[in-house]
Amino acid sequence: MKTKGTQFYIEAGKRAMAWHQQHIENMKKCRFDTIAVHGIYSMQEALDFNQGSVIEPIYMSTSQTYRDSDEMEAALSYQIPTWCYSRIANPSMYYYEGVLALIESYKTGVDASCIGTSSGMSAIQSAVDPFLVVDPKNPGAKLNFVGTCQVYGGTYQQFNVRKDQEQNIEWRKIVNPSNLEEWASKIDKNTRFLYGELPSNPSQSFFDIRAVAELAHSHNLPLIIDSTVATPALLRPLEHGADIVVQSVTKSLFTSGLGIAGAVIARKNLTSNIDNDAMKADFCTYLKLLPNRDNGPSISPMNAILALNDIRTIRTRMDLYSRTTMKVAEFLSKHKHIEGVDYLGLESHPLHELAKKYMFLVDSEYDELYGKKVNRYGHLMSFRIKGGAKATRDVFDAFQRIWRATDLGRIKSVATIPAISTHQQQGEEGRKLANIPSNLIRLCVGGEHPDDIIADINQALEVLDGKTYQVSYPEYSTGGASSASLK
Ligand SMILES: *Cc1c(COP(=O)(O)O)cnc(C)c1O
Repeated sequence: MKTKGTQFYIEAGKRAMAWHQQHIENMKKCRFDTIAVHGIYSMQEALDFNQGSVIEPIYMSTSQTYRDSDEMEAALSYQIPTWCYSRIANPSMYYYEGVLALIESYKTGVDASCIGTSSGMSAIQSAVDPFLVVDPKNPGAKLNFVGTCQVYGGTYQQFNVRKDQEQNIEWRKIVNPSNLEEWASKIDKNTRFLYGELPSNPSQSFFDIRAVAELAHSHNLPLIIDSTVATPALLRPLEHGADIVVQSVTKSLFTSGLGIAGAVIARKNLTSNIDNDAMKADFCTYLKLLPNRDNGPSISPMNAILALNDIRTIRTRMDLYSRTTMKVAEFLSKHKHIEGVDYLGLESHPLHELAKKYMFLVDSEYDELYGKKVNRYGHLMSFRIKGGAKATRDVFDAFQRIWRATDLGRIKSVATIPAISTHQQQGEEGRKLANIPSNLIRLCVGGEHPDDIIADINQALEVLDGKTYQVSYPEYSTGGASSASLK
């Protein structure tokens, strides 16, 4: 049998890539909601490859087959569009990455790519590790990176224990991220990147991204931003000079709470003092084809499509969540049992003016309800209870509708006490640095009506006036399962 030859497939691959690129360029002309809803999946692709399926398909297969050895050779040398093996790539992941790259770079003027990861933590690890490599010209150097200490508890542990303690890579902590001098004073020739969370979880820290990005670039370093709390609906750090964005997609993007998911989104041609041209040219493609292929943190196709399905509504949800959170924050800030409320949307917050310059509901100027740019601050907030740790636990235990869970971003309101949960492991000193007192409740407001959330908080706070309450549990669920209380 005469074979077609590798070149035949390479030519077909080039035509296909040109078609897909054109489709992506056409999508880029649409508004944010349209992009979030359709992503990079098209009717043509549905009809040609996916039996007409309107929703992106979930390909659970570990691998793909090839027509012959020529096609396999072209594929495995990455010369044609291919996914080979699901640890490296998969069509479901591809649609997930396509939509995230487009919404994170929406109207930023930046050409970006994305790689899906199994979690937010693996996104952070994937984003930082390529910079923490031995410099052949100075192999004995002790590497460092400079980052804010107001970060998610898991990030704190990854940086403090995994990197600093276990690998001797120094995390130079920024205590006051608004102080540019502090950032500048910690950078030296062995620094590999700058890192920050915006806004931070849970302390609502914020800093001037543009100024920090300029500082990073003046030292030939990339700025990496964890933008989980804002989501691309409220902030797109690439627009302000960040080189890499990490997302715990698990949170507001994947609001239904059906799985864990993460993503790294990076600009093409990023800034770095590492001598690795392929990495700098297209960071996410480099991650996909090399480090993440070898380390294996890729997202499951099932989670990719479940998450993608929630991502479609991110803009309107963040608008709703933000408006409701504002009402809850205003209610709490006037309550007699509340010592303070940390929400960037409140004018009383010391960083309100700064956040106001950066956090807008995307496309609100094209929304007939608003017709202009409007600020939105997301649905993560925290508040401190007067009376210390015991009083705080009493109020927390009295919530009837707000779920007690170490989670955020959900369509259902959830609350936690960070000092005994998310930020428990970093100890007293770490909590002090990150500004997490024991009387702090972190609340992430969901899609319920604001009146009902406020009513729940109000009745919970009444325990501090001496109100007692009792919760009754059913002995059988409507599904027939007997309850733990049935003896
Ligand atoms: C939850 C969270 C993470 C970690 O994400 P996972 O998906 O749980 O691994 C990272 N950063 C922030 C800000 C988070 O809230």
